[in-house]
Amino acid sequence: MKKLIFMGPPGAGKGTQAETIKEKFKIPQISTGEILREAVKNSTPMGLEAKKFMDAGDLVPDVVVIGIIKDRLAEPDCSKGFILDGFPRTVEQAEALGKILRETKMDLDAVVNLAVPDQELVNRLLSRAKIEGRADDNEETIKNRLKNYNDKTFPLIDYYRKEGILKEVNGVGSMEEITMEILSVLG
Ligand code: AMP
Repeated sequence: MKKLIFMGPPGAGKGTQAETIKEKFKIPQISTGEILREAVKNSTPMGLEAKKFMDAGDLVPDVVVIGIIKDRLAEPDCSKGFILDGFPRTVEQAEALGKILRETKMDLDAVVNLAVPDQELVNRLLSRAKIEGRADDNEETIKNRLKNYNDKTFPLIDYYRKEGILKEVNGVGSMEEITMEILSVLG
């Protein structure tokens, strides 16, 4: 059973690594960022609400992302495992997730934290902006996303360390090296 969270600052490579690891374990990757971008693209009511936060590099309100995760985890393909990529990002989200998992009698196996220094993140995000053209990858919103990460998401490292399921991985290196390290900490 692989019920995993991939955590790390924006630009740490969680999405990329989650893509590889999900193939390996044949489990779904659940990216709140992707689900929100899809909702924005389709101009759904949720997308219209989320867009202003995303464009500014702010977090979308907890109630919205918690609702997304609750619905997604209820889908049958999640019963054998999943990778949460980009959720939780606040202590409130982590607590809501704990409640959902207790109610559905699921347990997290590991929280993988990818650590990357700030300056490296800014460089990576700016170069991704050029390649992918994401609306939230400009210098000002990048700074705001890093600030939000440091203020709101960083405390989750300690939260999951206390739960005894935190696995720390150095997020600097080649894609293959980092994948190997993740597989090794997952055992
Ligand atoms: P990401 O692709 O994970 O970097 O997410 C892109 C944007 O979507 C973030 O900057 C937030 O605005 C929003 N977002 C994604 N996941 C969450 C979350 N768990 N909580 C709040 N906002 C989120």
